Amino acid sequence: MKIFCIGRNYADHAKEMNASIPTEPVFFMKPDTALTKEKDFYYPNFTTDLHYECEIVVRIDKVGKNISPEFAHKYYSQFSLGIDFTARDLQKNCKEKGLPWEIAKAWENSAPISNIWLNAKDYDLNNLNFDLTQNGNTVQKGNSSNMLFKIHEIIAYLSKFNTLKVGDLIYTGTPEGVGPVQIGDELVGSIEGKEMFRLSVK
Ligand code: MG
Repeated sequence: MKIFCIGRNYADHAKEMNASIPTEPVFFMKPDTALTKEKDFYYPNFTTDLHYECEIVVRIDKVGKNISPEFAHKYYSQFSLGIDFTARDLQKNCKEKGLPWEIAKAWENSAPISNIWLNAKDYDLNNLNFDLTQNGNTVQKGNSSNMLFKIHEIIAYLSKFNTLKVGDLIYTGTPEGVGPVQIGDELVGSIEGKEMFRLSVK
């Protein structure tokens, strides 16, 4: 199982990171050990600047390579919500040195995901509201219509480089409002007002 993550897929998030707006999708990967469905999240000891990035996650349910955008909808039927946890201090260091980001992104339990999966046919995935609260305060409020690259474009792009297999996940990028978490925080993610996950940072 592969976990793809799309970076800088919302212009306002790229701006807050002082990053350029990409002209084609930016992707990186996390290992399967990154995925966690646990309600408790343990702050890792190798960072002092852990950031949440709340993201819509699509699950591939059909094998495909070189998928064209107009057929991409046939390759998934469910989606959910997760967090692409990022050790921002380590990422900053990598960026400054021009190094890959894995140390900041691809560690164990860095990809919490909801236990709930929603049916794509019941929603408009190009106009989906989602949000993240931190201790009751809304910190991220996104709508998938603001994705620079829509889900069908992402699937087409990723499948140029790799065969997409059943169970592969795509974290589709985070809207603006990323920020640090502290031990004791409670993070709640929702899609269209439906609570998808509730995470306690320990
Ligand atoms: Mg992200």
